Formats: sequence, C-alpha cells, structure tokens
Amino acid sequence: MTNDTEFKAWRVQEQDGEYEGSEQTLHVSDLPENDVLIKVSHSSLNYKDALSASGNKGVTRNFPHTPGIDAAGEVVEASSGSFSAGDQVLVTGYDLGMNTDGGFGEYIRVPAEWCVAMPKGWSARTAMIYGTAGLTAGLCVQKLLTMGARPEQGKVAVSGASGAVGSVAVELLASLGFEVVAISGKQDHADALKNLGATEVLGREALAAEKKPMLKPAYANAVDTVGGGPLAELLKQIHPGGSVSCCGLVAGPQLETTVLPFILRGNNLLGVDSVEIPLSDKQSVWDKFAGDWACRKTEASARDIGRGELDGALKAFLKGESSGKIVLDHSK
Ligand code: NDP
Repeated sequence: MTNDTEFKAWRVQEQDGEYEGSEQTLHVSDLPENDVLIKVSHSSLNYKDALSASGNKGVTRNFPHTPGIDAAGEVVEASSGSFSAGDQVLVTGYDLGMNTDGGFGEYIRVPAEWCVAMPKGWSARTAMIYGTAGLTAGLCVQKLLTMGARPEQGKVAVSGASGAVGSVAVELLASLGFEVVAISGKQDHADALKNLGATEVLGREALAAEKKPMLKPAYANAVDTVGGGPLAELLKQIHPGGSVSCCGLVAGPQLETTVLPFILRGNNLLGVDSVEIPLSDKQSVWDKFAGDWACRKTEASARDIGRGELDGALKAFLKGESSGKIVLDHSK
C-alpha cells in the first residue's frame, strides 16, 4: 500500500449549484491525514447520505466529496490507537461522510477514536445492515427502556415505520415483547411491517393535524423517526407517564406543540443522537444487536447494491420512497 494506490469512490461534484454523483478514481494520498486507513468493503445507506449527495450544506460544506456516514472493513495501517493491520472495524457517525470522505469510497482514513472493533460473529456486511439507522433504532428503544417502558403498559407506536430506522425499531420492539403499531405512508408495505412483528399498521393519517391540544391516549410509548407535525400529534396521544424517543426530521425540523402533554400527563420527549455520543455507548448497542437484540428478519431482507445504483437509491430517500435496509457492497 502506497500513497499512489488507486481506488474507486462515488463522489459528488458541484457545478453551477447542481450536485451530481459518479464513480471516480482517487489515490490514497487524496484521503485526509488521520490515524487509521481502512479498506472499506461495505457501507450503509442513510437519509443523511441523501442530504449530503444533494448538496445540503448543513451536512457537507465542501465539494467534491465522498458521502457515506457508515463504513465497515479491514484496517490497512494504524499509526495510533489500539488497532493494527488486519483488524475488522466499523465506523459510524462523527464527521464520517459529512466533511470527511466516507464509506462510498473503497478506502477511508479516520481518527482511531471513531473506530469500533467488529462485534464477535459479525461480518462487515452484517454491521452495515444495521449501520447508523440500526444504531439509532437501538438507542431509541434503549431510551424507552431506561425510562421504564414495559410491554404490559400498552401499545408502542413507530412512525416512519418502513424506513431504515423505523423498520429496525419495529422488529426490535416486537422481539422484546411489545405490541407495535407501525405508522407508515406505504400501504403496500403493510405485510412487510407485520412480518417484522407489527400487530397493527396505520396510515400517516393516524398522525394528521388535529385542532385539539390533547387527544385520547392511544400509545404507552413511541419511537418517532419523522419529527415535524406528526411528532406533535403523537405527543397528544401518549398515556400518562409515557415517553417518545425522537430522532428524525423527514417531516420537518419544526416542532409546534404545547406544554400540555408534559404537565398534564407527565410525558417525556427523549432526544436521540447516534452521531457524537461516546464510542462506548455505540459499542454497547452494537454488542446487543450482535447478541439478544439480533434482528434476523431485517438481516434476511437487506438489499445489496453496487456504487452504480447509489444515485437512484439516494434519490428515493429524499422522496420518502425508500424502505428497509440497503447495503453498499464495494465488490458489486
Ligand atoms: P428513511 O428515509 O429510510 O425513512 C424515513 C421514513 O419516514 C420514510 O420511509 C417514510 O416512511 C417516512 N416519511 C418520509 N417522508 C415523510 C413525511 N414527509 N411525513 C411523514 N413521514 C415521512 O430515513 P431513515 O430511517 O434513515 O431516517 C429517519 C430520520 O432519522 C431522518 O430524518 C434521519 O435524518 C434521522 N436520523 C437521525 C439520527 C440521529 O442520530 N438522530 C441517525 C439516523 C437517522 P413511511 O412511508 O413508512 O411513512
């Protein structure tokens, strides 16, 4: 391995305010100076990658840029930290794929403190089936459990249920014994959501805007992946003492609500960040997914694509048409 070693990356260029991704040949010397050089075999597709690829400056300031907020593969060189050549690692979040070239390239070079040892029994592909979306679903569920959520309290709602985060949350909650109500805009996905363990599938109209400041409690707890108006409506329908984990903004970043759910029903709105949290918090969720929390149906239904299919797959995220977990396999 030398600095002249060539590799392929799906790179986004900016021209006259338009953003277009395509396969490019780069050299290892093009990567940023960091501790650990990793040969990436797999990455995972996330909504944030679609934002980066479409020129969202809140995610990526400078172009050309290689997106990919998740990466898994083998350490090639490590100048510090506890890793050495040949170790299998995974990297999610921090600045990867935002302003540091990410997993849509065959190589990344990142700080040692971003790298997690591959959980026992996992391949790079398995890690990337979960990826940031799976990690986020795990953190959402963990927060509910920490607040005392238990199956016997009643139904748990999951919004954006067919999405990358939502689908893992549905399967995980169901496997932990919760009665899961999946809220999804994709009618043709009802059977798939039931197969993941949802007992009921409702359309997005279940969270349509209502004038009333509070509604009859319908859910003991909830995982919200969409934010905006639907989150405000969900908050009106939570049982006394119940919680909502909130992680996303596909329906908008604004949250117009009242204090009523909080002061009349003692509800909790639990923020979830999977990006900047300590590495040990990520590792503990990875270890759970590699153990008791394994989501076998998600693992079995994940879709593999090559770099040539990235453009269409990322555009589907922005239209809200993406579903389930999509893995980028650099060998395809
Ligand atoms: P996906 O696009 O895979 O899933 C989002 C789902 O939300 C869609 O599939 C759709 O599901 C639903 N949806 C889309 N548009 C709308 C809309 N306008 N109104 C209501 N529902 C809509 O994205 P991810 O699952 O990867 O991510 C979900 C959110 O979580 C994103 O905002 C992402 O940025 C955020 N996120 C946050 C993280 C964190 O650390 N806080 C980490 C990872 C993701 P359906 O058709 O079933 O309704």
